[in-house]
Amino acid sequence: MVSDRVICSGCSLLCDDIIIKSDGLYIDEVIGACLKGKERFDQLTAKNRILNPLIRKNGELEEVSLDEAIEKTINLIKNSSKPLLYGFSTVSCEAQLKGIELARTINGFIDSNSIICQGKILNTSKETGITLTTIAEIINKADLLILWGANAAESIPRLLNKVLFSRGKFRMTGREIKTLIAIDPVKTASFGVMGVRDIALQIESGKDIDLIRVLKEECCVADSIPKTGIAGIDKDDLKRLLLHLTGAENGIIFIGQGIISNENSANLIKELLELVQLINVKQQKGRISVIMLGGHFNMAGFDHVALSICGKNHSLLFENNQLSESTETIISKIEKEDFDCSIIVGTDPISHLPWQLSNKLMAKPLIVIDNKRSATSYVADIIIPSAITGIESGGLAYRLDHIPIELKKIVSSPNNILSDEEILIKIMNGLQED
Ligand code: SF4
Repeated sequence: MVSDRVICSGCSLLCDDIIIKSDGLYIDEVIGACLKGKERFDQLTAKNRILNPLIRKNGELEEVSLDEAIEKTINLIKNSSKPLLYGFSTVSCEAQLKGIELARTINGFIDSNSIICQGKILNTSKETGITLTTIAEIINKADLLILWGANAAESIPRLLNKVLFSRGKFRMTGREIKTLIAIDPVKTASFGVMGVRDIALQIESGKDIDLIRVLKEECCVADSIPKTGIAGIDKDDLKRLLLHLTGAENGIIFIGQGIISNENSANLIKELLELVQLINVKQQKGRISVIMLGGHFNMAGFDHVALSICGKNHSLLFENNQLSESTETIISKIEKEDFDCSIIVGTDPISHLPWQLSNKLMAKPLIVIDNKRSATSYVADIIIPSAITGIESGGLAYRLDHIPIELKKIVSSPNNILSDEEILIKIMNGLQED
């Protein structure tokens, strides 16, 4: 039995301090992971693990050989003039690259989950600018942490351990010198870690933009805070919030799903990023930075890979094997039914999309590449099992602070299941052979 220090791919924090005990075949013990991380390692032997390729025949999914599943996939792609590729945020950057190459080869449209998550912030930042930071810098320098619509305690379970309760080079007193502010309409689990110096702001639902506008105005005109407060937050708390925002040496705003998934997210994100830039222009001695809390462990990776090879970070449409100008996204493509088959990699859109879109997606031939069963795999026509990235296959991933982290293979996959990258290469090779 050998002990090894490995990286957890359970979420986008990619914790690098996990100890596993393994005989090379199985993982016997996982030390240091949170419950979510433990679940990731347990996926190796989970009941919902996909262990064999499946093809729908006469309405039922039947086990077939990998060669048959790949051949059927190639036939479907060949008969398609508008294939859609989607997902790619729980696979390595190498697999993301192959996904984009496949989309180029078959003149398809490819998008990642980022487009309905943190990609919204990245896209807005093209207009407003954005001040980013790293986990190491937060540990060493942060004195203010703001969870805005972010339930970090549950979505990225060890984030607060690392950035709030840790001591850093310039923060040797640790937790005592850091202020936590939570802004959320819901009293989430993250409110449970509040200390006496922290500020819990239970904002009225959908009123974040009103709060941001008041803060922006107050940054420019002193004493413009309404006497009655705003968005359910009283005047005194507003003043304390503003004092922290404009007085912090190193403040971080963690932008979570409460902002990203808001129905007014486009304006909300724009005004929030503008507030950050406004404070930073006026701030003499410190700055405010932003961390985007995407959940999937390599959501940021797709943006980097796509940007580096196509000059565009999402929603790539290929025509004549070249990137084409397009304003479509995965949502508009499905809405308009502008596709004739889909290849879904490592995600479950049938569960996550509104049912009108799910219905449209499942009405056309659907190929799934994934390691676990999901609502999408239940309606798929072809299912190709994949190795679990970060455990059964290695590769590069981008952490939530956009730092590249190398994942390594820890144990072999059962049934010689291939990695996502190998599956995509096999499909491409098959297409080129015919
Ligand atoms: S916080 Fe995320 S990366 Fe860290 S152990 Fe938990 S699931 Fe894994």
